[in-house]
Amino acid sequence: PTAIHWFRRDLRLSDNPAFLAARDVGDVLPLFVLDPAIWEKSGDPRRHFLAGCLAALHEATDGHLVIRHGKPEDVVPAVAREVDATSVHITADTGPYGRRRDAAVEKALGDVDLVRTGSPYAVAPGTITKDDGTPFKVFTPFSRRWRDHGWHDPAPRPRSVRWAEATSEDLPEAPDLGGTEVLEPGEEAAHERWKTFLDERIADYDDQRNRPDLDTTSRMSAHLHFGTVHPRTLLKDIADSGQTGKGVDTYVTELCWRDFYADVLWHRPETAREYYNPELQGMTYSTGKDAEEDFEAWAAGRTGFPVVDAAMRQLLAEGWMHNRMRMIVASFLVKDLHQEWTVGARYFMQHLVDGDLASNNHGWQWVAGTGTDASPFFRVFNPVTQGQKFDPDGDYVRKYVPELRGIAGKAVHEPWKGELPEGYPERIVDHKHEREVALDRYAKARGR
Ligand code: FAD
Repeated sequence: PTAIHWFRRDLRLSDNPAFLAARDVGDVLPLFVLDPAIWEKSGDPRRHFLAGCLAALHEATDGHLVIRHGKPEDVVPAVAREVDATSVHITADTGPYGRRRDAAVEKALGDVDLVRTGSPYAVAPGTITKDDGTPFKVFTPFSRRWRDHGWHDPAPRPRSVRWAEATSEDLPEAPDLGGTEVLEPGEEAAHERWKTFLDERIADYDDQRNRPDLDTTSRMSAHLHFGTVHPRTLLKDIADSGQTGKGVDTYVTELCWRDFYADVLWHRPETAREYYNPELQGMTYSTGKDAEEDFEAWAAGRTGFPVVDAAMRQLLAEGWMHNRMRMIVASFLVKDLHQEWTVGARYFMQHLVDGDLASNNHGWQWVAGTGTDASPFFRVFNPVTQGQKFDPDGDYVRKYVPELRGIAGKAVHEPWKGELPEGYPERIVDHKHEREVALDRYAKARGR
């Protein structure tokens, strides 16, 4: 018999229980369906990463990976008929769109089973609940229970696979990024990067993780999103390394945030768009031509605030941004430019290589004060002091904003104190003033 393994967010062969389930049936046809609508919407760095992961998977499957373009509910049943498959195997997708898509595919498959095995998370969404069976709404108690629950050991890499064959369209072409340094795609690259982080950096992670000018975080987010590595593998490697201490502990907590947001979205799929905490539902936002221009300045990295501009330009060039910078630019859009978090979340999703509905939209909701946890609606990041604190020598700004390279040291965070370098914009808003406006808007929306 032949089974299809339909790869989606599990682009790896190691520690892939769904793939093993397909292999246990008989011959395996490895399939990836490229939905042109999604491909068209993605920024170049995201396409570059996905194309690279697929090329690596093609190699890992001895050239048998089948690529088909189209809507999964049309393509998957058609391929199943072509190869006379008895079942189609997937890693469960627990997000709202994935669930809908998989239900449509399941229906279209008719008699052929769609078999879901595992999830992209250390603990599958919906598993961790309070004693009364209801979901956690706050992170810390969730994380305690998550640690108590523990994780499965990684599944072994299959030693031998008999591949089935079918015609394939070409692998998608990776766009030329003009020499920009980006994260290496593919399963092997994920393991190499991870090993370096685990051996050399995790011990200092707690101290150093807020520094965008240093390469101190793991950069596993895109790999975790596309599943070139599973978090179970990372957690097991950490345990096996015998390392303990604050660095390791904080890193495990970050992986837990990823699981937490997926769990929140599983229970409340509408929060991909709607406010988790409805208290601020009545909030109003800037609209019209000025708001559009502000948004464009933000998106292009031309706000006149160096750290915001550096971060937004990094996003455009590399498809990645440091966590601290994500918080600063999100706060700037929502609280200095008074735009709804959904606007920024959508833009991030187009450009981030690690763009992930749960982590991204709940990250934005957290900044906007509409999300889980003690909502810090009154917390307005000051883009100047944040820059001075976390990019203390100004290296991060100078790397991404060439107009400011002539200003040495930390002075780069306040270029208006000297003569503004040619080509660099004036500040588009007065932060002190907009902070007051934001607090006022929040107070009104909360009815006090
Ligand atoms: P590390 O610091 O090395 O962390 C290790 C892993 O833990 C990350 O790879 C990630 O999987 C997880 N993690 C860390 N912080 C968070 C967090 N706050 N929430 C959820 N998971 C976390 N992360 C995404 O993966 N995709 C997104 O689309 C995304 N959008 C965000 C939007 C905003 C506004 C904010 C504030 C945060 C967002 N994050 C998102 C979370 C975080 O910024 C990134 O996961 C992190 O910067 C990725 O870099 P890293 O892999 O080097 O992280």
